[in-house]
Amino acid sequence: MQGGLKPDLFAAVGNTPLIRIPRLSGALGRNILGKCEHLNPGGSVKDRAAKFIIEAAERDGSLQPGGTIVEGTAGNTGIALALLGNARGYRTIIVVPDDQAPEKFELLRIFGADVRAVPVVPFADDNNYYHVARHIAGQTRGTIWADQFNNPANKEAHYRTTGPEIWEDSGGSIDAFVSAAGTGGTYAGVCAYLKERDPRVRCVLVDPLGSSLYAYIKCGTLDVEGESVIEGIGIKRITENFKGAPADDALRVEDRAAVEMAHYLLREEGLWLGGSAALNVVAAARVSKACPAGATVVTIFGDGGARAMSRLYNEQWLAENDLTPTARGLEFL
Ligand code: PMP
Repeated sequence: MQGGLKPDLFAAVGNTPLIRIPRLSGALGRNILGKCEHLNPGGSVKDRAAKFIIEAAERDGSLQPGGTIVEGTAGNTGIALALLGNARGYRTIIVVPDDQAPEKFELLRIFGADVRAVPVVPFADDNNYYHVARHIAGQTRGTIWADQFNNPANKEAHYRTTGPEIWEDSGGSIDAFVSAAGTGGTYAGVCAYLKERDPRVRCVLVDPLGSSLYAYIKCGTLDVEGESVIEGIGIKRITENFKGAPADDALRVEDRAAVEMAHYLLREEGLWLGGSAALNVVAAARVSKACPAGATVVTIFGDGGARAMSRLYNEQWLAENDLTPTARGLEFL
């Protein structure tokens, strides 16, 4: 995203701005900084994983010219693979659970991906989108399975790029890093890098309801409570990319607070963000309150509001889901 001449689209992935959220920071007396991953070419944090996954497969020879990339994804990884794939002449087959926002399906089709919507079933069921993608890749010649959940290139992307960029842009002055996880690549990669630079950086995992990571960090179980409408984050198993990630603490954020924050950020800060970003900011604000005045807490803006237009920014959908925002200020924190 950084200005300047780039040799191709791949080189334009990453180097996103780290923005201080000024009015929120002022109200809290702490600096809340957001890494603007929605400004990547494909509009989400998943561009980084897609780039590293493609480049690793090119290096090990599994992805040949004209080859096909198969992935099971809640949407953003598929969107990133489709765009970056187009830039290198690869086809994409993207398997998506059919409860995801319609704008993500639309984008995938516009970008030329072969989109396969599948019913939402538990991971243990062979018809889960993850297994369907694995089967398609296994049965089709000339294809690779991106496998973002377990492919180490995903975490490596964040260890080698997102983490160092955050460290550099914050001047190495970070009290806490707070983020939700989907595959865990972003959280685990950034935390591993920051802890290496300064073990005092507090790494806090935030979970939506309906996910097991909170229970896993707090008590080592995979217990789940409630459910969430926030897309792209939360998981009920421990992926290879999440395994071993440092976590000083975990907290859970309810959907209502995330929706209130999404609308606050748009209205008061001019930031139009997706649900995971809004949930991350709620968590960052709550974590910051336990830090001394003037502390710096960094989080991730995973995608932008356009990916959630028909839901988080749609009055009818919000009313149907009893999520109509009502806050006038920041009382939901
Ligand atoms: N935010 C959004 C909007 C996402 O799409 C994702 C990925 N599913 C995440 C956050 C989580 O990123 P990761 O897979 O690196 O944990």
